[in-house]
Amino acid sequence: MTRYEPVIGLEVHAELMTDAKMFCGCRVVDSVEAAPNTAVCPVCLGMPGMLPVINRRAIDFALRVALALDCEIQEHNVFARKNYFYPDLPKGYQLSQYELPLARHGSLQITLDSGETKRIGIRRVHMEEDTGKLTHVPEGTLVDYNRSGVPLLEIVSEPDLHSAEEVYAYAQKLRQLLRYLEVNTGDLEKGVFRVEPNISIRPAGSKTFGTRTEVKNLNSFRALAAATEYELARQEAVLEAGGGVVQETRGWHEGRRETFSQRSKEEAEDYRYFPEPDLPPLQVQEQWVAAVRSRLPELPDAKVSRYVGVFDLSAYDASVLTADRPIAEWFEAALGAGGEPKTVANWLINNLFALMNESGQAVTEIQITPEQLVELITLVEDGTISNNTGKEVLAEMFGSGEGAAAIVERRGLAQISDEAALAAVVSEVMEANPDQVTAYLDGKVSLKGWFIGQVMRETRGKANPQLANKLVEDHLSTLEG
Ligand code: ADP
Ligand code: MG
Ligand code: ZN
Repeated sequence: MTRYEPVIGLEVHAELMTDAKMFCGCRVVDSVEAAPNTAVCPVCLGMPGMLPVINRRAIDFALRVALALDCEIQEHNVFARKNYFYPDLPKGYQLSQYELPLARHGSLQITLDSGETKRIGIRRVHMEEDTGKLTHVPEGTLVDYNRSGVPLLEIVSEPDLHSAEEVYAYAQKLRQLLRYLEVNTGDLEKGVFRVEPNISIRPAGSKTFGTRTEVKNLNSFRALAAATEYELARQEAVLEAGGGVVQETRGWHEGRRETFSQRSKEEAEDYRYFPEPDLPPLQVQEQWVAAVRSRLPELPDAKVSRYVGVFDLSAYDASVLTADRPIAEWFEAALGAGGEPKTVANWLINNLFALMNESGQAVTEIQITPEQLVELITLVEDGTISNNTGKEVLAEMFGSGEGAAAIVERRGLAQISDEAALAAVVSEVMEANPDQVTAYLDGKVSLKGWFIGQVMRETRGKANPQLANKLVEDHLSTLEG
């Protein structure tokens, strides 16, 4: 796009992984696995006379996110009723925050493929509750209220994004952050993490915003990027044809890979917001905020800088190792066990990840421990086994959980690094192959590699390769001299 500049802001809804719901004691259950309507009570079913109580833990989780996004926390918080009628909303209103959100004025740094970084403004972070879930079947519509009242965090960005790539990077980064903070699994398919881009375009150089559309029903990052691309192109075609973009909510059709009009955009007044009379304002005191701040884990950006700055890893390796908090923790545990950062990083990225991919296991599920990997690396580094044997041993450790030294011992894999023993093998090889020796002395120097190969064969691959190389060279130069 050359004549137009895309302007995009993202609204993200993230369920918080608390044990209990936002305003009642019902459990938060997996929306796919749990039997429908088994985690419900009069409060989350919207029965008359029920009274909500704020889940303190949910606010704790929300504060983690707000602080990680560098937001200003509002002390005085008011919950408001957002009124609308839909069968997934049993009370006829959703408890949300309107004028006074929990947090504002934050930012999130994103990194593009080019390596360029950008700060995206965060307009607001507020607390609300999720609705029930509707399933349309030929006989009618089924409703499951297990999700009704699950704590939901809404994170709204400034319209600071200017391409589908930036949208993708922002959503990925936010997901990573929520996973680091252990407040959300980031599962788009289950609808636990929902991303809605607000998209507009304007003539390049213009300072005023164009009319935006909001796209819903995106349940993968690929769909998010594709829908953004589609919508930008569609709006450009509308303007180029002399028309105007209509402000509306659009859905994403995964099969046709296009957006379609769902409904015209509601305005705030359509919701008749008013303060929830059954909840007093929530005061979030500084002490509370300080306590949450002191328990924040090291966040991805800080980890990447430390891995690059202190461990001297490449930016790529650092980003791979910090992509998920459990991986970073596993890596750091290996360093704690005495591993050298670059060596451990190489073994993880080049070997262990491949084994994990093959078996479909996450780092939290594998049998091999960080200490065991370091033990293996030590055996390779001190020459007890070759690098290739090391890889083989790792695969066996991965499958059985047995230690490296035990496997090397049991299978007799230790290299022959005993110089006298190996020199004897070299002599035997030379004596058994007088024709090759003559050919070598006549100038066929490439036979050196062949002699080394014979030594490896005689020792069934266990000769220390560097030592075998040196002893063959020594032997041949004696013959030449
Ligand atoms: P609403 O709640 O009505 O959807 P908000 O003002 O909260 O409206 O904005 C929602 C999102 O839309 C924010 O991420 C904001 O950055 C973005 N946004 C607002 N105006 C535009 C625009 N003209 N083009 C693109 N995004 C926009
Ligand atoms: Mg909106
Ligand atoms: Zn309940």
